Amino acid sequence: MRHAFTVDVEDWYQGIPISNTMSAQSEPRLEGSCHRLLDIMAEYDVRGTFFILGPVAQHYPNLIRRIAREGHELGCHGWSHDLVYEMTPEQFREETQRAAAAISNVTAQPVTAYRAAYFSITARSLWALDILAELGFQYDSSIFPLHNWRYGIPDFDLAPRIVKTASGSICEIPISVREVGKMRLPVTGGAYFRLYPYFVSRANMRAVSKQQRAVVFYLHPWELDPDHPRIAFYWKARLTHYANLKATEPRLRRLLTDFSFCPLREIAVQMRKDG
Ligand SMILES: [Zn+2]
Repeated sequence: MRHAFTVDVEDWYQGIPISNTMSAQSEPRLEGSCHRLLDIMAEYDVRGTFFILGPVAQHYPNLIRRIAREGHELGCHGWSHDLVYEMTPEQFREETQRAAAAISNVTAQPVTAYRAAYFSITARSLWALDILAELGFQYDSSIFPLHNWRYGIPDFDLAPRIVKTASGSICEIPISVREVGKMRLPVTGGAYFRLYPYFVSRANMRAVSKQQRAVVFYLHPWELDPDHPRIAFYWKARLTHYANLKATEPRLRRLLTDFSFCPLREIAVQMRKDG
């Protein structure tokens, strides 16, 4: 079974709760870490889906071109990296359109995949799926079907499904969780991949595969940059942001050896065939 490899392309300071002033003073390091990730993926001959933050497409067109040239899929990660459930539908529509346009201006390809900042499509912001369908997105991978302090829909389906909205249908490919009794545990990606020992991540992935579900794995380029600056911000977010960063690269290499991966679009295509 092939799993989905996804990357949320933002700099180390763009996905943490700090002020715009602090953000503007932070050292940009995205190019180095993202090229490093692309080098590793090329070494293992793996293609994935890269969800690009709008300003990243605007500032680093050559990086975006490399991602596209090497056969990866480009998706949209919004513009502001703010929580969707704290936006109005109008703000969400405007910034999503702006980000998708910035990405397709670079590649001349339409953008049909979306991932919300902080997985923030929740019960309070399910209207976002209507807007995504209206804007021509074919699939979304923003819903984490468990409870977390910042995100999650604890009773959402574990497997991908078509969601019908007033503006048409959209395929939702939720982030993977493992069922253990009545509990739903985050399987792999981001901080979870750094916090669990590798053998636990591997066992989690195998348990999900056994239920005939492809895992949606996710990573940020800055997770491959253990030396990025240490700054102060909200403790809950800080706790996971800096944890065990040195482990990412060796674990990623093991993961790419032990499992096979593909872009999210292949999971969506397979789903439409099955459904
Ligand atoms: Zn993000």
